[in-house]
Amino acid sequence: MSDATTDTFRGSCLCGAVSYEITGAPMRVAQCCCSDCQKLTGTGHATIAFFNEATCTIAGAVSSYEKVADSGNTISRDFCPTCGSRLFGRGSGRPGMIGINVGSMDGDCADRLQPQAVVFAARRHPWDLLDEALPQFPAMPPIPKK
Ligand SMILES: [Zn+2]
Ligand SMILES: [Zn+2]
Repeated sequence: MSDATTDTFRGSCLCGAVSYEITGAPMRVAQCCCSDCQKLTGTGHATIAFFNEATCTIAGAVSSYEKVADSGNTISRDFCPTCGSRLFGRGSGRPGMIGINVGSMDGDCADRLQPQAVVFAARRHPWDLLDEALPQFPAMPPIPKK
């Protein structure tokens, strides 16, 4: 079954207790090299797609970790309490927007997305190899709403 024409994206955590479905194209797909993403993922960056939160349906209970960012905004990050998979992020500075960790998407859905930028590139590690053709931003530039 292909959703290539319907812009539906599905995914889940590792154990399957939490799943989600989103309709509509993402506002941005970014390789995020911020320190939080590095700690959260244990890797050099997180690949995050930002969607209109109203189009996202989540099944299953998540746990959430909140942190005040350097900007003063509160960032909450949802993860599966059973398997620990990092799934969703929301920021008080970006109301109505949800960030999804693209690696949690089902393969065919994740493969339809194309990273558009490297954000928080100032924090990028030299060993974290990314597409050098992507525009790089030292922090997070504003996301245009769709
Ligand atoms: Zn899980
Ligand atoms: Zn980040």
